[in-house]
This record gives sequence, C-alpha cells and structure tokens, in this order.
Amino acid sequence: MTDFIYADNAATTRLSDKALQGMMPWLTEQYGNASALYRCAREARHAVDQARAAFAKGLNCSRQEIYFTSCASESNNWAIKSTCHALALKGKKHIITDNIEHHSVLRSVETLKAEGFEVTVIPANADGVISAADVAAAIRPDTALVSIMAVNNELGTVQPFAEIGKICHEAGVLYHCDAVQAAAILPLDVKECCIDLLTMSAHKFHGPKGIGVLYARRGCVPPAYIEGGEQEKGYRAGTENVAGIVGAAIAFEEACGWRTEEAVRLAAIRDRVQADLLKIPGSQVNGANVARIPGTLSMSFEGVDGQSLVFALDTMGIAASSGSACAAGSIDPSHVMLAIGLPYELAHGSLRLSFGRYNTEEEADRVIECVTRAVRDVRSGICCSV
Ligand code: PLP
Repeated sequence: MTDFIYADNAATTRLSDKALQGMMPWLTEQYGNASALYRCAREARHAVDQARAAFAKGLNCSRQEIYFTSCASESNNWAIKSTCHALALKGKKHIITDNIEHHSVLRSVETLKAEGFEVTVIPANADGVISAADVAAAIRPDTALVSIMAVNNELGTVQPFAEIGKICHEAGVLYHCDAVQAAAILPLDVKECCIDLLTMSAHKFHGPKGIGVLYARRGCVPPAYIEGGEQEKGYRAGTENVAGIVGAAIAFEEACGWRTEEAVRLAAIRDRVQADLLKIPGSQVNGANVARIPGTLSMSFEGVDGQSLVFALDTMGIAASSGSACAAGSIDPSHVMLAIGLPYELAHGSLRLSFGRYNTEEEADRVIECVTRAVRDVRSGICCSV
C-alpha cells in the first residue's frame, strides 16, 4: 500500500517478515497435528515446545508455566473466571479490578458479579493511573484475585504493576496482569513483579492474530475454561495453531531484542507529534503527566468527535483510532475517557495515535499535517460523522 500510514499499532501490528517466514513451513508441508504420535506430529510438538521456551525466557519463568490460547480476550476470561470459580470453593468471593481495564476483563468480572461475587472497582486518577495504595486498602481476607493491567490500551499509561504484585503477594492474594499493551515495549519479569497470571497477545507485537498467551505460575493454573482435549496439559482444549504459536514466539524474541532502542526512537516520534498537535487550539493530551509507553498518544480536541476525525484521517490515508465505540447505532464515548473524568464532549473527541516498529519520522510529519487539517475540516463542517 502506498501513501498509507498505519498509526494504530495499539489495535494491531503488521506481522514481522521473520515471523511470517518461520510460520510458512507449518502452514504448508508441516501440517501434522501436534498431539499425534508420528514424526511430523512430533516435529510440530517440538516447535510448540520451543516457542513455549522462548516466552518463558522473555518472561523469566519456566516453560511449563506458559499456555497458548486463541487471543488475549480468551486468556483474560480464563484467568479471571476460572481462578475465581476455583477460589470461591474456598470461600473467597471478592475481586479487585479498576475502571480502565479492557472489556475482556471488565465483562469477565461483571459475569462473576452476576453470579454473586463482590467486586471492588478502583477508580483511575485523572491521568489514567491506578493507585497501588488503593489496591492495598481494598484487599480483604476473602479477596480471590486482583486484576490490574500493565498498560492502558487507550492512554498508554503505565500502571504500578510491580508494586501491585508485591502488595498482593504480601497479602497472599493472586495477581492477574493484562500485559497486552506492555509486551512489545516493556521488559516483563513475572518473578520480580510477583505476577501470578499474565496475559499477552501476539498480534500486538508483530506476531500473527489468533494467538494469546497466558503465563500461570506453577500452583495457580486456573481450571480449564475450554474443555474437551488434552492440549496444553489438559488446561486448554483445541488443536494447537502451530504456525501461529511459532510466529508469536519469533515476534516476541524479536521484540525483546529491539525494544530498548525502539522505546527511545518511538518516544521521540510521539513527543514531536504531541508538541505539534498541542498547537491546535482546544487540544489536550490525555494521561499527559504520568509514565506512558512511548508509542501511544491519546488527545482530545474540543468541538470534534473522534469518529469524524478517524473518518477524515482515513480519507487522507492515515489509520488511527478514536476512543469511541459504536454501540447499538449510537456512538458512546470510551469508558476509559469517562473514567479519567473527561467531560462528555472531550471524551467524544479523543483520538489515539499509536506508533510502532515500522513508523518513520517522515510519517510522523505527515500525521501532524493531516491531523491538524482533519481537526480544522471537522470543526468547519467540511467533514462530519457518517
Ligand atoms: N487487553 C488489552 C489491554 C487490549 O488492548 C486488547 C486488545 O486491544 C485485549 C486485551 C484483547 O486482545 P485480543 O485481540 O488478543 O483478544
């Protein structure tokens, strides 16, 4: 695609060439079922085991603690629902989470609430950060699980996950961390951060879509959520997606190799785009005053709705995203923007630009120019919502 700028890397990322190459044999001549006994199946199983080892190395855990799923949403549902169901049998029916989690966490918790669990939802502050002290204060003797993400997907704000992990461990409570937006760019050491359950998704770090990872510390693997097969030691039924798993591991290894350097490069791009877009009257950065991952920038523009901006940018060849989600014919502002206290109008006007491995300085210049023009066009009515 020429003249197309992809600035939505928090939504998904381009598959890395090396991951694609590594996947090809498993999509073509190496099609054996990894659970079978003959040679090509054993080779497939070996490839899956090697992939498990790559994730274990990157997360500082053992390969027996890595489980492959179909996506992070599945990993989150499994980690939260199955863990809580198991602990409810021991009288633990209280969950702690927060109001800026991904919907796969929030909906899982809501389902448990409908089943009779008690839920404490910690409110994020105005910059989109959860206080570790608030988590500590919310822990009770019957708390089963704390689920707080590593990095928010709309704001890019980094949560105090290592501190929260330590608090949970001292209190003897399990800690689940949705690390989907952190995996490409932040070092994640599950031991050092005292994380018991950690979720990742390959398509967020230049791996293929359709592969989720769940790290589950030995001794706290949640009971099976998808039943009916002995794959993943009986904890997750379903024929292994060997090609996807291999591609995910290659992409993760690559990301672990380049992330330190890449963080510096992306921060420079993000800061420049941010500084120039702040020159637009009525603009503001969301989550401005706290640590953010380097590639993600959330901004709001007065008098502009985010969806219109996304459509206008699309006509200029730029893929970005807004914090709004179309629901039942109406455009609702994102729960994250409302949670940080943005007035309805600004919450509606949020735009997320997320830069990644393949974005260049030149692209950043064009993004600045196009967003500036798009805001002006939407404000003057040249572009409007569909
Ligand atoms: N958690 C977070 C923080 C996310 O950003 C996303 C996707 O955007 C998910 C979970 C769900 O990931 P998947 O698409 O792999 O289900």
